[in-house]
Amino acid sequence: MQLSNGKTLTLILLSALLLGSEVHIESHHLVAPDSLQYKQPSIVSGRTDVVAVTPWLAPVVWEGTFNPVLLDSIYKPQNISIAVTVFAVGKYVMFLKDFLETAEQHFFIGFNVHVYVFTDQPTKVPQVKMAAGRQLTVCSVPSSKRWQEISARRMELIQTLIEEKLQNRNDFIFCLDVDSKFHGRWGTESLSGLVAVIHPGYYRDDRSRFPYERRPESRAYVGPGQGDFYYCGGAFGGLLQEVHQLAKTCRSNFEADAKEGIEAAWQEESHLNRYMWINKPSKVLSPEYLWQDFKPRNPEVYIVRFSGVVKNYAEIRPNV
Ligand code: UDP
Ligand code: MN
Repeated sequence: MQLSNGKTLTLILLSALLLGSEVHIESHHLVAPDSLQYKQPSIVSGRTDVVAVTPWLAPVVWEGTFNPVLLDSIYKPQNISIAVTVFAVGKYVMFLKDFLETAEQHFFIGFNVHVYVFTDQPTKVPQVKMAAGRQLTVCSVPSSKRWQEISARRMELIQTLIEEKLQNRNDFIFCLDVDSKFHGRWGTESLSGLVAVIHPGYYRDDRSRFPYERRPESRAYVGPGQGDFYYCGGAFGGLLQEVHQLAKTCRSNFEADAKEGIEAAWQEESHLNRYMWINKPSKVLSPEYLWQDFKPRNPEVYIVRFSGVVKNYAEIRPNV
């Protein structure tokens, strides 16, 4: 069907009205300022030591595959805003200061960022000076005696946060582990509908070694010969609507499993991996986006942008 641009737009807006949701037409339409000059992109030379596209043609973001200045100038005029969720329950409040301070140095610099801190100790949230356009909201959550439960409840809280506070206010959301620090740029190159991060611990392994949930009774089950990559539970994101769908699905699968007495091998990380197997991420972030401090940097990792700190589990978790 051939339609004029005006008619197409009216149709899109009309269907959005009918669906009762806001459309983000701009997010899918990449408009660059014509005054911008930058290095000519090559179509025949680039990184050859890593794979930069998935079999379903989603980009895999590695240093050297994108132009940060170009991407920022495309997204800047759209005045987008990025929500971040971070959980700090029990002793994990000690990680907040470094997380928040390093986010101020590296995470979406120059963009609107709204950090939501979920904690059982609001008075212990450190005061960190934030740049213009950036803000923090503290949300109270109950404490828990089991770390598995804290970790698992994140999906439920992300789902309700999006439903109750974020609709029509933010465009994108990233859900991050608190026991980590930013060391390098994490910005507009990470934006897409559904964004997953490759886990640094398994990315060179055969899929048979991935720690997916292997019991068919679980709703997080991924069978032999299935699974693309092993993704992190400690970082994921995308458009609000996409992350809402993910959180809602993982939460309900987690709860249905729990009713039958099953807890997936790696709690919500297992459910996230099941979800991403069926719902392919539209962008995949390389392990540059969640490294682990104890791991020596591999040669294909030119830059570590975000990394989990070394921690003593016995000391910080409420149970072992
Ligand atoms: N978490 C928390 N308190 C706890 C355990 C976990 O706040 O007692 C949150 C915190 O945001 C943490 C995330 O759940 O980053 C995932 O847990 P953890 O980082 O211990 O898992 P790992 O990265 O070691 O697999
Ligand atoms: Mn962690």
